[in-house]
This record gives sequence, structure tokens and C-alpha cells, in this order.
Amino acid sequence: MIQNYDLVVIGSGTAAQVASSRVRAAGWSVAVIDHLPFGGTCALRGCDSTKVLISGVDAVDMARRMRGRGITGEAAISWPDLIAFKRTFTDPVPANHERRYAERGIDVFHGTARFTAPSTIEVPSVAFTLPPIASVGLGEAQALATGLRFRVNRQKVSNWYTARRVAETVYGYKTLVEGDSGRILGAHLVGPHADVVINLFALAIRNGLTAEQIKQTIFAYPTGASDIGYMLHRLKGELYRDPGIGHHLPKLRGVENRDNAD
Ligand SMILES: Cc1cc2nc3c(=O)[nH]c(=O)nc-3n(C[C@H](O)[C@H](O)[C@H](O)COP(=O)(O)OP(=O)(O)OC[C@H]3O[C@@H](n4cnc5c(N)ncnc54)[C@H](O)[C@@H]3O)c2cc1C
Repeated sequence: MIQNYDLVVIGSGTAAQVASSRVRAAGWSVAVIDHLPFGGTCALRGCDSTKVLISGVDAVDMARRMRGRGITGEAAISWPDLIAFKRTFTDPVPANHERRYAERGIDVFHGTARFTAPSTIEVPSVAFTLPPIASVGLGEAQALATGLRFRVNRQKVSNWYTARRVAETVYGYKTLVEGDSGRILGAHLVGPHADVVINLFALAIRNGLTAEQIKQTIFAYPTGASDIGYMLHRLKGELYRDPGIGHHLPKLRGVENRDNAD
């Protein structure tokens, strides 16, 4: 029997949940098909499950870094226990998802579908390593390619309180700020809380905020967020990049004077 739908969604991940629910709410007939258990990569194999595993590794890593700094004893991972904990998140997912589709009047099918369509995705990114690495907005090459003139702040700052408090030896940042407007163009972080702090940079970039506006904002201290004003400070010997020249320039007196007059 052939059944027709206004929309057939291939896959039951995050994108499918959003698209199918909105379209169904608008009155369309909708079906979702997946050849794996329902829920998609993020809920079953990606974001959520990997972060539960990382929480275990993070706890051991923290205990090891803090040993001799007020913490004694060995922390170790029990793999079966950690996997059992992870399953408390993932096991209920397929049944919950299928139930929610049914409640919304969306038909679900198990099997493989064939469908092709172009797609373009641009998502701020975080790698949940220890410590995390996070990036948003433009990198130097991209900013140059768009013809922007900008300054680059970059520093290793493992001597900052945020890193020292948790005995983390890796902490650094690079920020790109447009020369004329002072708009924040990009931020690239590695270190404690980079996975959280990057969201503030994303918000700033999306709303066209300037470095000065961020620096004037009072963030709760001491938190990872309270570092971001310092990440936008002009540094001695900071680098300017200019698409007309295309390579790093040491900071020039003329450039400095012009920008200070902004
Ligand atoms: C290990 C890992 C960690 C990740 N961690 C993060 C993170 O921390 N944060 C974050 O934002 N993102 C993370 N991601 C990325 C995130 O999981 C994806 O961006 C997100 O799941 C994409 O959602 P989606 O709905 O587009 O596709 P998916 O969730 O991948 O869903 C696609 C579904 O389509 C099904 N499918 C594919 N082809 C067919 C077919 N022909 N017929 C039927 N079904 C089909 C698949 O079985 C799958 O269930 C991670 C990914 C991985 C792999």
C-alpha cells in the first residue's frame, strides 16, 4: 500500500524532531523514518552520551591535578558503572521519542529511506576534550578573505586564576576584533570553561557587540566568563592584519594612534 505525506523526514535526530513537529503543528501530514533506534546521534551516540563519559574522565583528571593540593587518594574509572550510568540517559530515548511522535500525530517507520538534498550547516563548534577547545566566528584566514582589517589578541594564560585554581596547565585564547568598528569577529579558546564561555562570544558576535561593550559588562567573579573582558584587551605587541598587505604586521605607532582615537 502506498501512503502519501506532505512531508517525509529521513532520520529521527534533532533536526527531524524540530522540523516534523513544526510542520505537523501547521497541519501537514508527516512521517519520520529511521533505520536505527529513534532519537538520532545526539541523544543516543553523540552529545549527551559522550559528555556523560567525559564527566567520569573529567572527575579523575581533576582529582589527579589536585593531588598534593588538598586532595589525596586515587580516583579511578569503573567502566561498567560508567556505562550503566550512561545508559540511564540513552536507554529510555527511543521509546520516549516514538511516543512523542505518536502523541503529535506523526507516523513513524523503521527502515532505510532514500533521499538526497543539498544542505549547508554552519555551527559554532566545541570539542569536549580535557580541557575543552571552542571556536566561534571568523578565523584569521576567513577574516582576511572577507576583506576586513582587524587586530588579533592571542595569549597563553595558564597563569590566570581560572586555570591555576584547578591546576590546569593549558589555557589560551585568540580573539579577532575589527579595526574600525571594534566589533568582535571571532574567538578561539582552549582551557577550563571554554565550552561555556564560547557561548558568550557567540552571543556577542551574533548581536554585533564591540570589544568595549563586553569589557564594560560586569561578569560574576571568579567565573570563566569574568575572563572574557581580558581576552579583548589590547596587548602589547598585538598583531594587525590587513587584507591589503595580507600578512602579520607588528603594531605600528600610526595604527595605534588611529585606533585609540576610535
Ligand atoms: C561522538 C559525537 C559527539 C557529538 N557531540 C556533540 C556535542 O557535544 N554537541 C553538539 O552540538 N553536537 C555534537 N555532535 C553532533 C550532533 O550529534 C549532530 O550535529 C546532530 O545529531 C545532528 O542531528 P541531525 O538530526 O541532523 O542528525 P542525526 O541526529 O545524526 O540523525 C540522523 C538520523 O538519520 C538516520 N538515517 C540516516 N540515513 C538514513 C536513511 N537513509 N534512512 C533512514 N534513516 C536514516 C540515522 O540513523 C540517524 O538516526 C556529536 C556527534 C558525534 C558523532
